[in-house]
Amino acid sequence: MIRFEHVSKTYPNGTVALSDVGFSVAAGTIHAICGENGAGKSTLMKILSGLELPSAGSISINGEPVRPDSPRAAAALGIGMVHQHFSLIGSLTVTENILLGQEPRRGPFVDRAKARARVLDLAARYSLDVDPDAKLATLSVAAQQKVEILKALSRDTRILILDEPTAVLSPPETEELFRRLVALRESGLTILFISHKLKEVRALAQQVTTLRAGRVSGDAPMSAISDDE
Ligand code: ADP
Ligand code: ADP
Repeated sequence: MIRFEHVSKTYPNGTVALSDVGFSVAAGTIHAICGENGAGKSTLMKILSGLELPSAGSISINGEPVRPDSPRAAAALGIGMVHQHFSLIGSLTVTENILLGQEPRRGPFVDRAKARARVLDLAARYSLDVDPDAKLATLSVAAQQKVEILKALSRDTRILILDEPTAVLSPPETEELFRRLVALRESGLTILFISHKLKEVRALAQQVTTLRAGRVSGDAPMSAISDDE
């Protein structure tokens, strides 16, 4: 279980992005974070994934206080993030992108065959088919997103965060993504799904926390939310 307590964030320019945010995420669920643009959703997930530090407040995972101060530290806690603007490099292959930066001293590409096999393993394990040798820039956006998801899952990930993942997908691609996410939840992952459209996560998420101007304005099981909200 992930618990946010009294989390606040003021950016250096004075913008107050989060004020006294508190809620819990149950393990093994899909939990939606909803709210209009500017509500603080990305900031909250950046704090969980080590891209920003909170100005105040705390986070715990299974009762242990955590304070990830880099994506690497978050990965060590089993947290992986799928960015809205992917963190991938167009001129590199799928394999290179997924394993980039994981073994900085020895480098993951010393043994190319091994790296490639690892990516194929990962793709099979999560049923996300990718061509390990394709140059990233030659892939469709939906295929690039699969690579971004595999990258986020590549380090014993237990908590997967997705920031507005449907923004770049067609309706059939969205359906496919949702099927994959349900399968990932069934395999035990906890999924945090950021969306500015409550409607789209209605059938997917078990719980929804709504942010409004940096504060929690709602936190309820999806089944308790009426259709016109
Ligand atoms: P959301 O994801 O809900 O759209 P954000 O967390 O991106 O919201 O933004 C919350 C507020 O913080 C907005 O007013 C946004 O402009 C501001 N903000 C986000 N990132 C920064 C930053 N790096 N520096 C200053 N202000 C920021
Ligand atoms: P992503 O969702 O992929 O992390 P965003 O589009 O939310 O990317 O933000 C891109 C970058 O711009 C981030 O580093 C974010 O912190 C920054 N940013 C967002 N809003 C503001 C703002 N109002 N002022 C300054 N920086 C901002």
